[in-house]
Amino acid sequence: MTAEIIYGSELAQSLRDEMKEEVTELKKQSIVPKLVVVLIGDDPASKSYVSGKEKAAQYIGIDSELILLPSDTTEKDLLDRIDQYNQDESINGILVQLPLPDQIDEQKVIEAISPEKDVDGFHPINIGRMLTNQDTFLPCTPFGILTMLKSKSIEIEGKHAVVLGRSHIVGKPVGQLLLNENATVTYCHSRTKNLKEITRSADILIVAIGRASMIDADDIKEGATVIDVGVNRTEEGKLTGDVDFESVKEKASYLTPVPKGVGPMTITMLMKNTIKAAIRHNSKK
Ligand code: NDP
Repeated sequence: MTAEIIYGSELAQSLRDEMKEEVTELKKQSIVPKLVVVLIGDDPASKSYVSGKEKAAQYIGIDSELILLPSDTTEKDLLDRIDQYNQDESINGILVQLPLPDQIDEQKVIEAISPEKDVDGFHPINIGRMLTNQDTFLPCTPFGILTMLKSKSIEIEGKHAVVLGRSHIVGKPVGQLLLNENATVTYCHSRTKNLKEITRSADILIVAIGRASMIDADDIKEGATVIDVGVNRTEEGKLTGDVDFESVKEKASYLTPVPKGVGPMTITMLMKNTIKAAIRHNSKK
């Protein structure tokens, strides 16, 4: 079997085109979605993520403002700014790029952002809403993965979904979204025993670990759907996922590549959440 490759980059482009039209229509009703992105310090990976977000916003017509702060910014200064953005009626979405410098408590910052402007979907209130299957801002990477699965009409209900990784931003929420779609979900992590046995029983395998070539053809079931979330850099500086693409491609039924897979979908879902925040805000006026 040769897998059909799910190019997130292509799906992301068509979603961005749709959103561009939607924003044009919203602007006719004087609704201008606005996103504020706060970047602290000069971590190259964070800078590159933020620039991807800026580009996507610009393309779609979302008003985006980038706030660059020095790496010695205090927690109080950041919290004061968030408070100011929370109160600013023209701002619909607030994103603070993680990770933050050591002197700033990440959880405090996440909880300071108004749940109505939490377009990253990390606020405990929004996580609770996701858990109870309510309409909310879904975390962008899991939301992107679900959208990719749905774009190919891949059956989720009743399937065994195995999630490798249990981070707050990817592993845990993606498992929850699949559970909400009636999959039977198993989480695996660094303490899991008999990992191969579990991954081999997966109909849908989500790999979000951050280790190159963690999963190869021998670890999967024939015909499985494999979503590779990992982003790793090889010694030559090339981007690569957590899945051995070449071998898994010959056994899976669907597979996502790295790059051009989940990454572009993450940014696209951030844009979707920002538009949703703007529409919600307007309907409450
Ligand atoms: P974390 O480092 O927060 O979590 C990694 C998870 O993998 C942990 O739960 C850890 O287990 C588990 N793990 C580590 N080693 C093993 C192992 N040998 N066997 C089984 N489980 C293991 O990572 P993130 O969730 O933030 O990110 C995962 C990957 O996805 C990274 O490569 C990151 O760059 C990428 N990423 C990509 C995005 C995209 O848009 N494409 C967005 C976000 C992340 P334990 O909990 O026990 O420590």
